[in-house]
Amino acid sequence: MQSFTYHMPVETVFGAGRIAELGERMHPTWKRVLIVSDKGISENTDHVDRVRASLKDGKALLFDAVEENPSFETLEQGSAWSRDLGIDVVIGLGGGSPMDAAKGIALLARNSGTMKSYMDGEPLENDPLPVICIPTTSGTGSEVTPFAIFTDQQEGSKRGYAHNGIFPSLSIIDPELTYTMPEKVVRDTGMDALTHAMEAYLSLDTFPMNDLLAVDAIRLCVENLEPAVQKDKNAMGEMACAAMFAGAAIAHASTILLHIMGYPLTVFHNVPHGRANAALLPSFMSFMKTKSTVREKVEYLETLFESKGGIDAFVRSMGIATRLSDYGVEESELENFVKKVIVKGDVKITPAEITEEVILELYRSTL
Ligand code: NAP
Ligand code: ZN
Repeated sequence: MQSFTYHMPVETVFGAGRIAELGERMHPTWKRVLIVSDKGISENTDHVDRVRASLKDGKALLFDAVEENPSFETLEQGSAWSRDLGIDVVIGLGGGSPMDAAKGIALLARNSGTMKSYMDGEPLENDPLPVICIPTTSGTGSEVTPFAIFTDQQEGSKRGYAHNGIFPSLSIIDPELTYTMPEKVVRDTGMDALTHAMEAYLSLDTFPMNDLLAVDAIRLCVENLEPAVQKDKNAMGEMACAAMFAGAAIAHASTILLHIMGYPLTVFHNVPHGRANAALLPSFMSFMKTKSTVREKVEYLETLFESKGGIDAFVRSMGIATRLSDYGVEESELENFVKKVIVKGDVKITPAEITEEVILELYRSTL
């Protein structure tokens, strides 16, 4: 008998041009609006103008200092602005970095501790401010997750925070906002969506209803990532959908060992988040095929890539290097990588026996 809890409290609006509906969907008490974004989006696209144009009074303040893989310092700065300006609602406009930063800023604006203290388990004093997510990449799925990932620059690690209070209240996924992505961002973020779906499907926390989302996300990525990288608009729309499905799947089953193994590549070698996961995907999947407790699920996943010649061939066809040495990683760093990985709880929901030695061997085999 199945037993599961499916909780998805995000009002999710999907479709080309639907950014125009933002204003009419805002709660009447959301008067002072803060847009959280990055400089590239605010200076090189008209996305901020489109958000403002849809609001009834056309007004929203802009905090565009978010860097890739946002730091605690950025959250402190944004939340200080929010408090000083009396902000009622925070809009995350961008890829995962601005969307996650919006969640962190909304949380700190109403709570007096540090992000680090809440990540270490301190309970929130108050509900975070409401968050609206408007993705401009098709990857993280942050628009439908209760997660936010931040970089602890002092400790040299990426850490995830999960709390139902940071589920966005509203997400508008308008594929038109993704058309301005450079090709490599389409590819890297698309591989992030793909690995989310594959990891959610293999996670010990998944359940058959969740698998429906994960498998369809994988199908959409396999069919559409290549044309999306070539900027085919229909395929880019399908990738926006895939990223959202995969996000809903990880909201319930989380990512597993692959994602946390990718974090040190990003922190120490600046490899973009999605590419880090993709680089490790072939060796992770061959490990899962021989050592996991869900081998029949691994075999099923392989069938989804038959039209592309298999998982390895698909990754290679995206022009993604799958040796760590290609990213400048050296053998002497691997033990430190393992230390950064093993502390994370996601290891527990990976369906295989995972020890420090196993992770070290996996990294070594990918060197
Ligand atoms: P990102 O860091 O948000 O964006 C990468 C780059 O893409 C940006 O520097 C930006 O360049 C550019 N960009 C984004 N949208 C664009 C557009 N429409 N047009 C032109 N350029 C655009 O990348 P991401 O992969 O979406 O997010 C990664 C972050 O999300 C990581 O911190 C990761 O850990 C986190 N994440 C969160 C979750 C979750 O559930 N919350 C899940 C997975 C990953 P410019 O600077 O030039 O604008
Ligand atoms: Zn990811």
